[in-house]
Amino acid sequence: MYQEFWTPKAINKPPYDHFTQIGDPVLRTKASKVPEDLITSKEVKVLLNPSMSVTNYQKHKHPEGCMSVRGYSAEVERYDSVSLKGTNLDGIEVNLELSGWNARIAQHEMDHLDGKLYIDIMDRSTFMCTCWEAVNSKSGRVEIPFYKK
Ligand SMILES: [Zn+2]
Repeated sequence: MYQEFWTPKAINKPPYDHFTQIGDPVLRTKASKVPEDLITSKEVKVLLNPSMSVTNYQKHKHPEGCMSVRGYSAEVERYDSVSLKGTNLDGIEVNLELSGWNARIAQHEMDHLDGKLYIDIMDRSTFMCTCWEAVNSKSGRVEIPFYKK
């Protein structure tokens, strides 16, 4: 009976309306480039076909989480500053200079495009369930939603 709960009866294919979770092969797949004829379509958002270069090799460690590793976090070392190059929604090449938190987010998202997750480079000794206190206080009766609002 327990196994039936985790075995889906219908197969749901991407694009999903929920956050995919670690174990889903799509998270380990390198993203393909957006075809030029789709660049100005409504489905496309923000920065297309980005490439990143490091502009400051100083690294800092900070707690990091991911909607695809829901309920957990770990400290991850990231570069202080990066440069992102890509195409905007008007099809114009843009260059973004990012530092601090914005640079961290950019590195996290660029890793996703390469099929990598923060758990691949995290400090394993800091990996934790972010709701462990709630789990204890509610005797384990805690649920983590995987859907988007
Ligand atoms: Zn993520």
